[in-house]
Amino acid sequence: MALLLSRIEFGVWSEVVGHEQPLHLVIGAHRRGMSEPVLRVKTAIASKTTPRCRNSDAGLRYHRALWMRDNAVRRCWVERITRGGCLCGGVSYELHGDLRPVVACHCNQCRKASGHYVAATQVEQSRATIKGDTLRWFKSSEHAERGFCSVCGGNLFWRRFDSPFISVWAGTIDGRTGLKMESQLYPESAGDYYDLPAVRVIPQSELD
Ligand SMILES: [Zn+2]
Ligand SMILES: [Zn+2]
Repeated sequence: MALLLSRIEFGVWSEVVGHEQPLHLVIGAHRRGMSEPVLRVKTAIASKTTPRCRNSDAGLRYHRALWMRDNAVRRCWVERITRGGCLCGGVSYELHGDLRPVVACHCNQCRKASGHYVAATQVEQSRATIKGDTLRWFKSSEHAERGFCSVCGGNLFWRRFDSPFISVWAGTIDGRTGLKMESQLYPESAGDYYDLPAVRVIPQSELD
């Protein structure tokens, strides 16, 4: 039974509970004869006051309990859900699964839209649930549009029309992100009032 718990699943849980904010996980199980997974939502609380959560025993026990309750379960997994939104709360989102490391962009459009430079993570659009009547999309070029809140003006998203991915401004994520900025775009367009972050420069073509 324990073999059902792959190293990846174990690792995901371990990483998730290492965060200092409450995190919401979807724990799913495919049952024999059912095409749709059964989803259970569990909240993991890993705070500074409970650092022992890092050992992931809790996750392992939960998986085992799930299996023991119903031996028709043939696959289990945990999935991280990241939540965020705009300043006024009019726009909110949930991102399912792992997120791309943060990329900074100093291009003129990002500077004008954000007032500084943009630092964004990214996820497949099919793994993002976005809610809010105040969300508006501004077509910023022939190829892409930017999502913002029409009440508070908060910038949240960028997406290319031909891409399955959506960029999400890392600063709009609630709580700690667990992400790192790893690269940057268009340093030649950066403002002269700040130093470039100490991360590698990459061409836009290197990203999805
Ligand atoms: Zn807003
Ligand atoms: Zn940009």
